[in-house]
Amino acid sequence: MENCLFCKIVQGEIPCEKVLEDSDFLAFKDINPKARVHVLVVPRKHVSSLNELEAATAKEGGASPEVDGQALLDFVVRVARASGIEESGYRAIVNVGPHGGQEVPHLHFHVLGGEDLGDLR
Ligand code: 5GP
Ligand code: ZN
Repeated sequence: MENCLFCKIVQGEIPCEKVLEDSDFLAFKDINPKARVHVLVVPRKHVSSLNELEAATAKEGGASPEVDGQALLDFVVRVARASGIEESGYRAIVNVGPHGGQEVPHLHFHVLGGEDLGDLR
């Protein structure tokens, strides 16, 4: 998707500090971290928000889905493991739309941890 910040990061047009990647997902450090560990997880394919994930996932006949929501969740846990916070705990947050405070219209999980997060959100 043109002019999408996270699509540009996925395509390498804008640099990022990679944490983990596979053929479907990319995890990179947030440029403005709110905790000692603050990683963003995005599907490589453009999905504008969580609201669009079902449409991107559901395919009649079960042919290869655009974005597999279960695989995305599993990847989030792999990111927590790779960041050394799987056992100490973390928060996985998805902001959706204006009231949710979503600034970048490309679906992403925030993975926050490495310290007691208190009521950080
Ligand atoms: P949102 O508010 O959409 O849920 O989260 C967007 C996140 O993207 C913010 O935490 C912000 O710091 C981060 N961000 C914005 N621009 C960039 C960038 O160019 N590189 C990286 N690594 N993170 C970014
Ligand atoms: Zn995008």
